[in-house]
Amino acid sequence: MKKLLVALCAGAIAVSCQELNVSEKGMDLDQKPTISVPDQLTQFLASSRSKDISIKDALNSTLFANSNIQVKEVHQFKTADPATNVETLDKQFESTLPSRWVPGDPNRNWNGDGDLNDIDWVSFTPFAVANGTFATEPIYRDMYAKWENDGYCNTVSIDEMTYDFSMGNPSLILDFGLPNAGLPIADVSVVGFLPAQIFEAVLGSENVLGVAFSFVFVDENGDPVKSTRGKEDKAFTEVWFNDGFTWADGAGPGVIDLESVILHEFGHTLNLGHFGILQLFEDTDAGTFELVYQPVNTMNALYIGEARNFLGPNDKGNFCEAWGSWPWN
Ligand SMILES: [Zn+2]
Repeated sequence: MKKLLVALCAGAIAVSCQELNVSEKGMDLDQKPTISVPDQLTQFLASSRSKDISIKDALNSTLFANSNIQVKEVHQFKTADPATNVETLDKQFESTLPSRWVPGDPNRNWNGDGDLNDIDWVSFTPFAVANGTFATEPIYRDMYAKWENDGYCNTVSIDEMTYDFSMGNPSLILDFGLPNAGLPIADVSVVGFLPAQIFEAVLGSENVLGVAFSFVFVDENGDPVKSTRGKEDKAFTEVWFNDGFTWADGAGPGVIDLESVILHEFGHTLNLGHFGILQLFEDTDAGTFELVYQPVNTMNALYIGEARNFLGPNDKGNFCEAWGSWPWN
């Protein structure tokens, strides 16, 4: 444990070692490391925001400029705004993403388990709590189990890896003052519930419920490697949730349903895009508006205040499109 303590305290950012309970048994997973956005990214964003550079390009120009993996897609899940969202969305019917996990890909043996025909996910335990109240790891397990078991195709094993601090930083983007080898520790890192300020600092908005960053392998020219079906080889996905919202065990006025948002973001980690068209109905007598998705799926692009903690018909069908032949190419 001595080694970890040294690494923690030697970090450039302000992890307060006196606050972290490092005992003989290791650092207490209930203790929260300090979060920071790397200076290189912050400075780039400060100088580029006015030029409308995407977060994807910002990340690839800074943290991943010399890496063989780059950010390919950044899916931000937001609440619907009747004033601006209807009829302005693109990609409302994207069954699967341009990138896909490649079965048996030796390049992504991140955890060394040698099983490259499963998808491994890890939760960063210190941040697996919403609003300081809801323990979210049981929900992560339930939502991945839904994707694994509730559809028409039960072809892929989605396995949990238990986190401990010796694994180092589970994020390739944020700095937690933990050792960082610059490589993922699993196929999917569920980094957890992070302060709204982090969403503001990185995405330029606090109004994002959750975000999934999808990475692909790139060749020496920076072009995505495509080894199967013309799709780009997925390398890693990391997921954040915004602790600035009021989360709840179920949908309701003024609260956000944990299961719906977690199930949606996990769909992106499993290669799914958004599916469903948003429609606005006006009740002219009452002067009210109602937002409706057709068809209803957890992969509807926006959160409209309704529970989506189940797989809809297209979720199931699109999952089969992505995974039906797994682990064959
Ligand atoms: Zn989404």
